[in-house]
Amino acid sequence: MKQYNRVLLKLSGESLMGAKQHGIDTGRLSDYAHDIKTTCQMGIQVAIVIGGGNIFRGLSGATQGFDRVKGDQMGMLATVINSLALSSALSAVGVKNRVMTAIRMEPIGELYTKWRAIEAMEAGQVVILSAGTGNPFFTTDTGSSLRGIELEADVMLKGTRVDGIYTADPEKDPAATKFDRISYQEIYRRGLKIMDLTATTMCMENNLPIVVFDMDTPGNLIKVLSGENIGTYVSNE
Ligand code: UDP
Repeated sequence: MKQYNRVLLKLSGESLMGAKQHGIDTGRLSDYAHDIKTTCQMGIQVAIVIGGGNIFRGLSGATQGFDRVKGDQMGMLATVINSLALSSALSAVGVKNRVMTAIRMEPIGELYTKWRAIEAMEAGQVVILSAGTGNPFFTTDTGSSLRGIELEADVMLKGTRVDGIYTADPEKDPAATKFDRISYQEIYRRGLKIMDLTATTMCMENNLPIVVFDMDTPGNLIKVLSGENIGTYVSNE
């Protein structure tokens, strides 16, 4: 059963660390690659945006005295490193893919344009969209919203290490309960922090639904794509 034709998958850099304190866990990478391979076999077009938090975040750099813009550029480069790692893991399991960059840096990746990305997906390739939006003061969540909207994806799948959106942080409040569905408005009203507000607002204004789910459990991505009721579905309804 296919729920979606084209998805924008957001993977967090932090999740790539697995059990490590920084860097890339190759086991986690390989789990992701296998789930993405199955997604392609379901006939779904896949675009991926990956974060860089396992390597560098501009905001934390700024608190250590780095210039914010240079720090954000370092963060964007971190997403390129992760994208190359994912590309390599996908190739290893036989999934054709292309790395595109929001900032020109051939031959590491080709410069992103909507048309190139769609052409590649229609030819059966996974596109990995690196360097976020290409601008400082944004995050890869905003990069994912932007690319999801631009590429006319049916949904943005936000893979995290929690299994959905809760009334409060479940790691701090044991009484917190999970939403199966929630509207963007309710997210604002309750002050829930699932993504930065720029990203949430872009999805709301352009009607891009989001599914927040636990990507660290292998097979979950396929469950979401098969319509199983895991994670939290966010929409305007
Ligand atoms: N970043 C940026 N512009 C963008 C996307 C990312 O400047 O459009 C920088 C920013 O410094 C951010 C870092 O790249 O902290 C890594 O991205 P993010 O924090 O979103 O990664 P994640 O939390 O998903 O691992």
